[in-house]
Amino acid sequence: MTFKDLGLIDPILKALADKGYTHPTPIQQKAIPILLKGKDLLGSAQTGTGKTAAFTIPILQQIYTKVGSGKGARKLKALIITPTRELAIQIDDNITEYGKYTGIKNTVIFGGVKQASQVTAMRKGVDILTATPGRLLDLVKQGFISLKDIEYLVLDEADQMLDMGFIHDIKKVLKLVPHDRQSLFFSATMPKAIVDLSKLILGDFEKVSIAPEKPTAERVDQTVYFVSKKSKAKLLKHLIETEKPETALVFSRTKHGANKIVKILDKAGINSAAIHGNKSQAARQKALGAFKDGKTQVLVATDIAARGIDVSELEMVIQYDLPNVPETYVHRIGRTGRAKASGVALGFCAEDERPYLKDIEKLIKQKIHVVTEHPFLVDGPDDPSEARESRPPRSNNRNNNNRSRNNPQSRNNGPKKRTAGNPKKRFNSKPKSQ
Ligand code: AMP
Repeated sequence: MTFKDLGLIDPILKALADKGYTHPTPIQQKAIPILLKGKDLLGSAQTGTGKTAAFTIPILQQIYTKVGSGKGARKLKALIITPTRELAIQIDDNITEYGKYTGIKNTVIFGGVKQASQVTAMRKGVDILTATPGRLLDLVKQGFISLKDIEYLVLDEADQMLDMGFIHDIKKVLKLVPHDRQSLFFSATMPKAIVDLSKLILGDFEKVSIAPEKPTAERVDQTVYFVSKKSKAKLLKHLIETEKPETALVFSRTKHGANKIVKILDKAGINSAAIHGNKSQAARQKALGAFKDGKTQVLVATDIAARGIDVSELEMVIQYDLPNVPETYVHRIGRTGRAKASGVALGFCAEDERPYLKDIEKLIKQKIHVVTEHPFLVDGPDDPSEARESRPPRSNNRNNNNRSRNNPQSRNNGPKKRTAGNPKKRFNSKPKSQ
């Protein structure tokens, strides 16, 4: 099936061709016909499935076919609400690209920056607005945005929105938009709270559910290193130097930690940048842009800041700290191995993080390969009383470093194996940078 088979109009087909997209992804194949018929939609899909195009293209097409390329005063017709500024910017960028031959106007608003340029953009007239909830309500309250002509309402990443405490804001928005509208609701997961929320938003809807081709945990080659807290920086430096990923996203639990990691990498001559909530929006966008362009090799991010990062072919994800919420681990490793690419996810596990590893393995129903023998364990665990427990005998099968991915005997035989260093070579020499 091609995009043409979906009945898309020429201006959109041309824009898709410019992007090099010819074939719709499964969610696009299923959702676009439903949405073009004007029906409400409940989409159970993650980022990476092509869902942004699945909902933005039908909105563009319907607005275009109803009002042409926007003569007369523009009214705000479509509202897309999404939890983070990075996601909001990404969605708005996609609308700009897919809609570039339609004459439809779009803009994006989010908090954390001055409102003046956002207000100016709204005053000029906008058809489609992508917004984070807080700033949206703020500008509505100040009278800069009216939602009374909304015909299309999209709630994106609804589960994340609930996690971030936006439920009351969403309910406020629902009171401001007309009852008679097309509503779209997307969520990666569908716990009861999300189903309840969807009922408030959707009328008579159709459901589209897209599971990733393989669960993330199966698509991604995962390894965890047992390492003392104080040796994590050395191990990170070493892995970047030996594995030489073109792009690596490092997750840090805290903003302060992210800054510290960047300092350490900088000292080692590794090109890196941090993005987190304390950085200005401009600094975050600049860092993200340089990373996407391949100018920055390592991006260090906190979980919230990383939510919207869409870098196709992100080679490696490194979890400097293991998260205490196992679902976060899956979200993080899902940043690599997107679309059809496979990816590499490495995690650093200190003594006190071992229980988190257990929870993660339980959730993904998979044993993660653990590397315990590498030079950076030598300065020992953080708590000496736990030393015995953390140093299993060399013959321990699960921790046996002689089993590499290149060893055919180790293939198809439990979790994938990785050594501390280049996965293609066995680690048997002292690293340069101890
Ligand atoms: P999303 O799930 O919307 O975050 O999209 C994931 C990635 O797939 C983005 O980089 C999109 O630009 C890209 N993409 C979306 N639709 C297609 C398509 N039909 N063919 C190729 N790439 C696509």
